[in-house]
Amino acid sequence: MPYTLVSFHAHPDDEALLTAGTLARAAAEGHRVVLVVATVGEAGLAASADRADGALGDRRLGELRRSAAALGCARVEWLGYADSGMADDPSGHPDAFADADVDKAAERLADILREEDADVLTVYDEAGGYGHPDHVRVHHVGIRAAELAGTPVVLEATVDRRLLRRALRLVSRLPGIPADFGPERFATAYTAPEHLTHRVDVRRFAAHKRAAMAAHATQAGSDAGVRTLAVLLKLPMPVFRAALGHEWFTERGRTPARPLLDDVFAGLRER
Ligand SMILES: [Zn+2]
Repeated sequence: MPYTLVSFHAHPDDEALLTAGTLARAAAEGHRVVLVVATVGEAGLAASADRADGALGDRRLGELRRSAAALGCARVEWLGYADSGMADDPSGHPDAFADADVDKAAERLADILREEDADVLTVYDEAGGYGHPDHVRVHHVGIRAAELAGTPVVLEATVDRRLLRRALRLVSRLPGIPADFGPERFATAYTAPEHLTHRVDVRRFAAHKRAAMAAHATQAGSDAGVRTLAVLLKLPMPVFRAALGHEWFTERGRTPARPLLDDVFAGLRER
């Protein structure tokens, strides 16, 4: 039976890093996949040429549409909020998503969930992954929206913190890797393995994931040094597939059990 999955993100490119394989797999299996962003990421880093005309948000929305097309998404929506920037670089925008009223923002998302009669909503873990204030807001707004709309399954898109830190420990020994790739920064980021419920195998969709990441061209360049996307896009395909071939989720209300579930619709099939 085809289901409808709505994937909620803070900024364009977040969908590519955390959920692209899962979205591509769901679409390929015949499910309806809808992508929603709170902001268009206009406060994100980018090369000065991409920022110069103040059109970074428009450009990033275009990139998001290309990413969505590569993944097979049926619909893309923007909730209309402003990108809050990082905590140490507040944009001060009156419509900043990080300062948004949770109930009001949740109503906007709930309208889409109701229109779509959504079965599954993906949000972020409580830490907001690495802690961007807009990502923390996605967690709270998404959960509230699912309550309002009665969406039965809510999955927190995340990363296995232990695996991430192990990988970063290896990478940080390589020459030329900047300090912000250091494992210390991720001690409380994302999710401890014992809280995970899903480890989704998306190795067959590695090319889709890579295409989604490549669509976010403004995010692979900046004047501020090495960008995560640029580093990942340089990996040879077998390494890319091994490093990014699984995606992790915590299903709210489900007791974690081993082995982890591979199917994001498992909670619906059990009903
Ligand atoms: Zn983001």
